[in-house]
Amino acid sequence: MSDILKVTVLGTGVLGSQIAFQAAYSGFDVTAYEISDEALDQARHRFETLVETYVKEVTGAADGKAAEASRRITLTADLGAAVANADLVIEAVPEVLEIKQALYEKLAGLAPDRTIFATNSSTLLPSDLKAFTGRPDRFLALHFANSIWKFNTAEVMGTDDTDPAVFDTLIAFSSAIGMVPIPVRKEKAGYVLNSLLVPFLNAATDLAAGGYAEPEDVDKVWRIATGAPMGPFQIYDIIGLNTPYNILSHGDEHAQSLAAWLKENYIDKGKLGIASGEGFYSYKPAD
Ligand code: NAD
Repeated sequence: MSDILKVTVLGTGVLGSQIAFQAAYSGFDVTAYEISDEALDQARHRFETLVETYVKEVTGAADGKAAEASRRITLTADLGAAVANADLVIEAVPEVLEIKQALYEKLAGLAPDRTIFATNSSTLLPSDLKAFTGRPDRFLALHFANSIWKFNTAEVMGTDDTDPAVFDTLIAFSSAIGMVPIPVRKEKAGYVLNSLLVPFLNAATDLAAGGYAEPEDVDKVWRIATGAPMGPFQIYDIIGLNTPYNILSHGDEHAQSLAAWLKENYIDKGKLGIASGEGFYSYKPAD
């Protein structure tokens, strides 16, 4: 992994904090950038929580390794300083085209020419952003899954302009931070993961909202008949219902009716998934 030594992560929300922490845990020097001092305070809190999570869930993290990772992360609200020495910048700012484009325009002038830029965007294509990077040959998508320490895929997807050597560098970097790299050979909205997952969850919602089968029975069929460990509604609860709701709300009329069903029966009742203690299943401790 000679090419990448210094990694900068932009945005320390749900995914950015996990990416920064995982890279630091794997021995890289990491700089994490946020937009304000207040956001940096939240970042500190997220990293503290990640230390606890790794200690609980990652083998070998308890003997000081997780705490050490946290110390390898430098936090800053100065974008120029954040990228001045970066070999790789991983962008994990909100999924809003204009925010990302404006950020890349600034970055183009601030980062050294050699710096590789990678977006963690879930729904945008790297082609939507490449013109703003000032280096389309050194820009591509590097898409992680939530709970990176255990759901460790890294989907690597370039544009027609991405230098194949840069693509290969990111495949190697992904392995170096404990991911299973997945090369996506052509640009595809949703990569591999969401190309499979979104239609799967939509089909499950259609069955339950249409009154064909209860959510737990849909899950039961999937688990028993395929040997899968989880059914679609268990997966829903892990993801949280808001993101699938947002995706359905932007779909056709039928998709919008499924979104309305999710909202009325679950979201409006505070049933957002594991994070809220209840979704399709209850996760509240027994009384
Ligand atoms: P989030 O809202 O939790 O975090 C975004 C962070 O970016 C916030 O901390 C915010 O303060 C910061 N931010 C806002 N504007 C910024 C700017 N101009 N520069 C730098 N930071 C800025 O979002 P998230 O869920 O972590 O998603 C971030 C990216 O990761 C999105 O592109 C999303 O599609 C992608 N992603 C998310 C998930 C997921 O499960 N949440 C999974 C894979 C990929």
